Amino acid sequence: MKAFGPQGWWPVTPRGAAAPAYVPGRYGAPADAGAFEICAGAVLTQNTAWTNVEKALAAMRAAGLTTPEAVAACPEGRLAAAVRSSGYYRQKAARLKEFCARALHEHQEGLAAWFAAAGAAELRAELLSYKGVGPETADSMALYAAAKPCFVIDAYTRRAGERYGLARGLSYDGWKALFEAALPPDVKMYNEYHALLVRLGKDFCRKTKPLCAACPLGPACAKDIYGTRKSGRTAGRRGVRQGPRRAEKVPRRRR
Ligand code: SF4
Repeated sequence: MKAFGPQGWWPVTPRGAAAPAYVPGRYGAPADAGAFEICAGAVLTQNTAWTNVEKALAAMRAAGLTTPEAVAACPEGRLAAAVRSSGYYRQKAARLKEFCARALHEHQEGLAAWFAAAGAAELRAELLSYKGVGPETADSMALYAAAKPCFVIDAYTRRAGERYGLARGLSYDGWKALFEAALPPDVKMYNEYHALLVRLGKDFCRKTKPLCAACPLGPACAKDIYGTRKSGRTAGRRGVRQGPRRAEKVPRRRR
């Protein structure tokens, strides 16, 4: 936080604007339109860069596909054309339509009211029961669209976490449990933690040629860039240590 500042996730398109905007310091659950855009973005961002998602969201906006009702009623081919830039566009169009149709059927109260009334674990479990919604997508929806304390794990978090020496070889749920055991269930903290880890992964802890010399975590990091550490600071299922000491290594957010 000291190095990067608040990240303003998840970006949502303000009324009348052309693109999603990052609003540092905003952490509450959005209204229906924002909740829908976050859910759609969480599906569209699977296996692609966010820049491609922004193009898809812009095309959806231009086509008037900004509500679950509009997406559910839209012919699949037309929706697929709108989200083409996000890749796997036929599959994503089908998943978006299914998500919207089922949500409309089971939650006539609307996304925002549904999310507000649900508990974190209950909502996450329900979202996971939707076709095409995996753990990262469900946690992204729960944290950013519903403001529930669900920690999001992604490739940036795993990579930086492994190199830092937090753990190695953990499943999605293993990483999630590690962070959630180390941090209080605080939406604001989880929001920034995830967003900051993404920033760290993009700016410093890159897949190849990480910029360790300038990295804000540099002094504390094990710099296990080649994944050669098998014991000591590493943890997980591969015969290494877990527990509170591991959790304590999660860098705490500074505000
Ligand atoms: S010091 Fe290097 S390996 Fe460690 S988190 Fe930073 S960039 Fe990644």
